[in-house]
This record gives sequence, structure tokens and C-alpha cells, in this order.
Amino acid sequence: MTTAIGWQAAEGRAYGGPGRYIQRAGEIERLADHLRDLGSRPFLLVDRIVDERHGAAIRASLAEAGLDARIELFGGECSTEEIERVTALVAETGADVVAGIGGGKTADTAKVAAVRQGARIAVVPTIASTDAPCSAIAVRYNDEGVMQEAISLPRNPDIVIVDSALIAKAPVRFLVAGMGDALSTFFEARSNLESRSPNFIRPYLPAPQAGIAIARACHEVLMRDGLAAKVAAERGLLTPAVEAIIEANTLLSGLGFENCGVSGAHGIHDGLTVLPATRRFFHGEKVAFGTLCLLMLEGRPLAEIDETLRFCRQVGLPTTLADLDLADAGPEEIGRVAQAALKPGAIINRVATPLSPDIVRDAILALDAYASRTAPAA
Ligand SMILES: [Zn+2]
Repeated sequence: MTTAIGWQAAEGRAYGGPGRYIQRAGEIERLADHLRDLGSRPFLLVDRIVDERHGAAIRASLAEAGLDARIELFGGECSTEEIERVTALVAETGADVVAGIGGGKTADTAKVAAVRQGARIAVVPTIASTDAPCSAIAVRYNDEGVMQEAISLPRNPDIVIVDSALIAKAPVRFLVAGMGDALSTFFEARSNLESRSPNFIRPYLPAPQAGIAIARACHEVLMRDGLAAKVAAERGLLTPAVEAIIEANTLLSGLGFENCGVSGAHGIHDGLTVLPATRRFFHGEKVAFGTLCLLMLEGRPLAEIDETLRFCRQVGLPTTLADLDLADAGPEEIGRVAQAALKPGAIINRVATPLSPDIVRDAILALDAYASRTAPAA
């Protein structure tokens, strides 16, 4: 293996993604049609709540397709213990395709078990709150729910199946959080282009033009359809705007972040997690605030910060420290956030501007001050 980077890094590029992506209302009832294309012995890892609500439809679809599937309830945490348990069951049943149906932890456990057993991977997200479903990354937690590591798998899912009717009926906060995660995608892609940072597909290789175009499209769809989608999904309605936002949150943001990398928005998210008050907020909510801070950190034009603030306010994403239950956090607490965000090897180091704990702290506090000053009167 060559370790030379030099000009090869500048000239190279790498692209990856799921084999197929299907999004349609009612698709969970057609699940077996997709699984049949991948194998003959499916293993389904399903969230308990999904099984209660849709188990009958899933079983009917499997029976109609003549598939003899094993259905197993997910234990609730993508931990070493659960990964071992599911991997052993997949081996025992000789499954050739593993489907993770439910939230992100279910999908990640299914991805790891499938790769370990050499089976194909199907992911069926039932909420659109992050951009993880399409990726080859799985996040492992301990039994207490504390993150341990991000595992880079050698393969992306073979198929991602999204039932948009089901997602439109989920609590709207999930869809909004997904917009927060997707909001970071273009801005972090731009950071990584400027710093010539690699993506998540191959070490040393940066984003391909395809990845950058997708990240840009993700941003355009959010600005165009975000508010309309939020208002419709609040009432459980499925409209073209909701379909477009589900795709932006899941496919565009998924391909965008994996092919272009992440940077300061996720770095500040990671730093914020040291403050216990932020634990009740979703990943995408903290990432949205991190995105605003990234723009301040990079010294972007105020017009861009204003547009991003307006979007966050419209859809209900946090724009100030008070929105994250951190109204009382001063320079000392935010200094700790900055310290944590800058720990060695942290993702924020991809930002192409000088960084220090003081610089990051001041960017967060300045963004908070600006957002608070410009907030429309309630
Ligand atoms: Zn994210």
C-alpha cells in the first residue's frame, strides 16, 4: 500500500454510497420485494415500537413473497453486547441479508452484524432525524448510552428503504432535527474543500465533484422546502415538500457528509455534549447551533449568517445558548466546550482558520450574542 500523499491527494477523489435508495409512501408494506432482490434468508432487526405498529404488515409482505425470515427485536443500544448477540443470531440462522428497521442504533447494529457475517445490508429508517442511514459508519455506545467509537465499515448499505408516510406521521421534532443535521452538510463540505481535508470514503482522498454538488443541492432543498415541510409534517401531512426534505435529510445529507466529510459544526456539537444540559437535545439540534457557530468562526458574511439564522428560527432549530438550556453559560462553561471540541484529533481541526480554545469560545459567544440581538421580538 502506498503512503505517498503529496500531489496524489490533491488530484485524487473518492465516492461512495448505498447501492439503492427507495422512498415512497407505504414502502414498508413492500419490504419483501426489496429484500428478495438481495437474498433468500432475511434477518430483520426491528425496534419494538415499529414491530407493534407495523409488524403485521411486514410479516404479511414476507409471507406473500414466500420468504422465510427471522424477526428479532432490537435490544435498545448499539453496544458491544447487542452487536455480539445479533451477530450470533445472524450466524445461527444463516441469513444472507440483514435489515435494520427503526432508529439509527437499530440500523447501525444491523450494519455491523451484516458485515461480520458477509450478508447484504438493508436499512429501513422510520424517522428522518439524522443522515446516518445511507452511510458505512456505525456508532457504538456502552450500555449506559455513552458514545464509544465510530466504526467505519467496508461497505455501505445495499439498499435504504424509506416509507415517507410513516416518517410524516412521526413527531415533527425528528424531521426538524434531521434538517439541523442536513444544514451542516454544505457548510462543512465547504470547510473541508478549503482545508483540503479527506472525506469518509478513503483515507487521504478528498471530495469528488459529485459529493460537492450533492451537498449544495441538500442546502438548496432545505432553504426552499424546509418551512413548508415542517408545517405539513406537524399535522402528519405528506406533501412534495415533506418528500423533498425526507430525501434531503436522509440521502442528500448522507451522501454529502460521507463524500465531503464533516468539520466544525459537528466539532462544536461534540464539545457541547460536555455540558449535561444539552443531553436532552437531539444530535441535529446541536449540530444546527454548531453550524451557526462555524459560520461565525470562519468569519462568513453576515448575510449568510442571517439567512441561516432565519431558516433555523422558521423551522424551530436552536439559534442561541438559551435555546439549548444554556442561558446561564458564560465564558467559563463555553471555554470548556471549546476545550472539548479541540481535543487532539478532533474533527474541528479541519476548519481552515486558526484555532485555539479562546478563538472557538469567542466564536460561540459572539454567535450567541448576534442571534440574541437580532431575534425577532416574541
Ligand atoms: Zn450529524
